[in-house]
Amino acid sequence: LTRLRQGLEKTRQGLVTQLLDNLGDDPLTPEVVDGLETTLLRADVGVEATDRALGALRQRLNQEVVDPAEGLRFLKEQLRAILDQPIEASGQPLLAPRREQLNVWLLVGVNGVGKTTTLGKLANLAVRSGYSCLIAAADTFRAAAVQQVQVWGERSKVPVISNPSANADPAAVVYDAIGAAQAKGTELVLVDTAGRLQTKHNLMEELSKVRRIVDKLAPEAVVESLLVLDASQGQNGLRQAMAFAKAAGLTGVVLTKLDGSARGGVALAVASEAGLPIRFIGAGEGIRDLRPFNSFEFVEALLA
Ligand code: GDP
Repeated sequence: LTRLRQGLEKTRQGLVTQLLDNLGDDPLTPEVVDGLETTLLRADVGVEATDRALGALRQRLNQEVVDPAEGLRFLKEQLRAILDQPIEASGQPLLAPRREQLNVWLLVGVNGVGKTTTLGKLANLAVRSGYSCLIAAADTFRAAAVQQVQVWGERSKVPVISNPSANADPAAVVYDAIGAAQAKGTELVLVDTAGRLQTKHNLMEELSKVRRIVDKLAPEAVVESLLVLDASQGQNGLRQAMAFAKAAGLTGVVLTKLDGSARGGVALAVASEAGLPIRFIGAGEGIRDLRPFNSFEFVEALLA
């Protein structure tokens, strides 16, 4: 939690200081709520989530006197509800592989968002949690990607399935990986899918194709399609999420680079506007700098 707090320092500095300045010592007024609105929008919380959270607060103000402490508590509650809604809809409070079953997690994301790093961190988390895991290096378009994935695999002693031939077909890598997992009874296969393709259309096609192969080879598998988003890209990331969510059957989001970003509020926009559960958050470059998402922790770190 401390790490997360440190990670969210920049968002918080902007947000909390301003929020608390806004709140002042006197009971909340409509003008104070207008100030909160500007602050939330500036932290990339997005129009929809901001309206939802503050709409509820405005309604309360119409009926009763609300002191600043209660205002802050109420605001946190509203923000948590926004983050929790897609998580509750998924029926899975915490995303974890099912034990003694084949789980396949596909990672997708445009270049540079931290997809490969996230894959390495997830493999490490899986091993620390006692899962058998392997990585499919199916981002075969980028020369360095396979090598980079291999380094992450070695760090956690997780086998990496790859195809050394140039321009290898990602489908062939996934085929090999699923085969190996089924033979060994592996519980979690992490698939690095291509993120280099420039247009979103191609990226989505790539993901759909990999998804079809997995469904065909391993109909028994529990499949997750996770979009990796760079929090520091703020609302741009949200647009990516919206585009991908519709076309690629995404089931969740990993939000990276929350450290050093003043736009951590984008988590709320993703949950509210794309309707996707945030599943993990990355706040650092180290192997352990990834944690399962928890709305309570997140909001406390954001508005500590
Ligand atoms: P990819 O192109 O999406 O696979 O991105 P990479 O995994 O190669 O990461 C791109 C850069 O972002 C690297 O320098 C990573 O160390 C860095 N990075 C990834 N995740 C995080 C994070 O949570 N915090 C910070 N500060 N840097 C990160």
